[in-house]
Amino acid sequence: MNKPVFLIFIFLISANIFSWSVFDSVRGNNFLEVNFFNVGQGDCSFIKIPNGLKVIIDGGPDHNLLVEKISKELPFWDREIDLIIFTHPEDDHFAGLFEVLKRYKVKNIVWSGEDKDGVKFKNFKVVIEKEQEDGCLVSKVKAGDRIILKDAVMEVLFPFDITGFNNQNSTNGSSVVIKLTYGLNKFLFTGDISSENEKEIINNGKDVKVDVLKVAHHGSKYSTSNYFLEKSLPKVAIIQVGKNTYGHPSKETLENLNFFGVKVFRNDIDGDIEIISDGKNLKLLSIDS
Ligand SMILES: [Zn+2]
Repeated sequence: MNKPVFLIFIFLISANIFSWSVFDSVRGNNFLEVNFFNVGQGDCSFIKIPNGLKVIIDGGPDHNLLVEKISKELPFWDREIDLIIFTHPEDDHFAGLFEVLKRYKVKNIVWSGEDKDGVKFKNFKVVIEKEQEDGCLVSKVKAGDRIILKDAVMEVLFPFDITGFNNQNSTNGSSVVIKLTYGLNKFLFTGDISSENEKEIINNGKDVKVDVLKVAHHGSKYSTSNYFLEKSLPKVAIIQVGKNTYGHPSKETLENLNFFGVKVFRNDIDGDIEIISDGKNLKLLSIDS
């Protein structure tokens, strides 16, 4: 039995209607805010939980961009980040975190423990060790762990076990997959997992049904299968993608999403994307190009 990573306070709202509606008043203590920042080719989400907790999932590839974007979301005197989750040790997911760790006091860091050769990640691990010495709590997570953030809950759906996983060509298949629940609303953050990994998650009995899907691996054709979409049935999909030579997002993935009637937003077209939730309803608050 896995224990929660932190235990702060659980509050789950027990209604059961989803709607994509307009709120009378937006922003404030009762709203969950999820920002999918436009950081080019890479992943970067910044989440504000009601009652003040601030969470980053992945830092994008750029050293300064994330800090710039966070500083627009927080008052200048607020220099604390409660939790950073980096899904896997690839540049386009952790490089932007160097600067965040320099400029902000980070209380918790969560990762899978999957290692990667190379100077950059080695340097990153040194920075994390230093953070740990300064009081930051660093935790390794796997499927079944839960991160309880006052009113919201994050459940780790993947990886099941990283022991023996040591594919230095790509650590994508070790990505930490997070399901964020706030009341009735659910968001899925999938890192760069493949269709094989998606299948593994479903075949292990994990409930992947969500309202908002952060599309895996920047829209690669090797992820976001019809099998996965049939189970996850998102209303909205976010593709975190920038200029790239990989052909992301792929025609196949866009077609799959279209087939299931999913509304798609992309950072390369729509800029920064912010979705807010009051626990029942979701609203697309801003799309800034
Ligand atoms: Zn990536």
